[in-house]
Amino acid sequence: QRKETGVVIKDGWSGYNLELFNYPEHYRGDLECVYIPHGVVMNRIECLARDILEDIGHEDMMVLCVLKGGYKFCSDLVESIKAQSRSANRRLTTRVEFIRLKSYLYQPDCELKTQLPQRTSAASVGVHWVIVTVRACVLTGYRNTSANIFLFYIPSQNDQSTEDLQIIGPDDLSVLKGKNVLIVEAIVDTGKTMRALLQHVDTFQPKMVRVAGLLVKRVPQGNPSELPDYVGFVIPNRFVVGYALDYNEYFRDLNHICVISETGKQKYKV
Ligand code: 5GP
Repeated sequence: QRKETGVVIKDGWSGYNLELFNYPEHYRGDLECVYIPHGVVMNRIECLARDILEDIGHEDMMVLCVLKGGYKFCSDLVESIKAQSRSANRRLTTRVEFIRLKSYLYQPDCELKTQLPQRTSAASVGVHWVIVTVRACVLTGYRNTSANIFLFYIPSQNDQSTEDLQIIGPDDLSVLKGKNVLIVEAIVDTGKTMRALLQHVDTFQPKMVRVAGLLVKRVPQGNPSELPDYVGFVIPNRFVVGYALDYNEYFRDLNHICVISETGKQKYKV
C-alpha cells in the first residue's frame, strides 16, 4: 500500500503576501498570510484523485466525509475522482456519507439541566464525571448532607464513543460492509480523529479502508507511521483556516488556506 509523503511545507515558510491574492473583503486585517493558495490545493487534489484511482481501481467507492472541515476537500476530491474515471471511460460509482466527531466532554448545560430539579446546577469535571450541586433540595440515595454536592459518573452515552470522541453520523453504517471505504479528512493534527474513525469503520467489516488527509501537521504527538494513505500537504504546527477549515465557524468561506492574524483571533474569539 502506497504511503504518500505529500508536499512538504517547511517550518520557515511564512506564506504569500495577502495583497497579491484575491480574498473576501470582510476578512481584511483578519489574516496574516496566504499559506496555500486555492489553485495549488485544487491541483494537488487532482493528483490525490489520480493516486486513489490507481490504488483502489475504478471500483465502487464509499466515501466518508468528516464534517465540517472536510466538506470542501471531499466535494472537490470526489468530483476529481469522477472526472478522471469518466475520461478513462471507466464505470465507477461513488456514495458519500457524512460523519462528525465531537469531543466527548459531558455538556451539563444542554442535557443534565433539563433532567434535574430546579435549583440544581451541574458542572463537568472530566470526560465522564459531573458535579451536581443541589440547593435546599433532598434527593434520595447519594446525599452528602454537609455540602449538598454530588459527584456522578456518566457512562458513555452510546457505544460509538472512542477515546473521548463521540461519533455523530448515520445510525447505520452497515452499507460499508464489503466495500472500499475512503475516509476524507481536511486536517490531521494529533491523529486522534483518524484513529477513532478507523476503529469505528472497522467494526462494519469493509473490504478495504483508506484515508485521505489534505493537510497533515508536523506535531510532536503525531506518529509518522500513522499517516493517512493520501496526503495533500505536510505543514508546520500552525493553526490554519480557510477551504472549509474554521476558527469558531468563521473563515470556512475563504478559498485559500491561510494563517489567521492576532486581530482575527481577537475579533472572532468566543
Ligand atoms: P486530531 O484529532 O487529528 O488531533 O485533530 C483533527 C481536528 O482538529 C480536525 O478535524 C480539525 O477540526 C481540528 N484542527 C486541528 N488543527 C487545526 C487547524 O490548524 N485549523 C483548524 N481550523 N482546525 C484544526
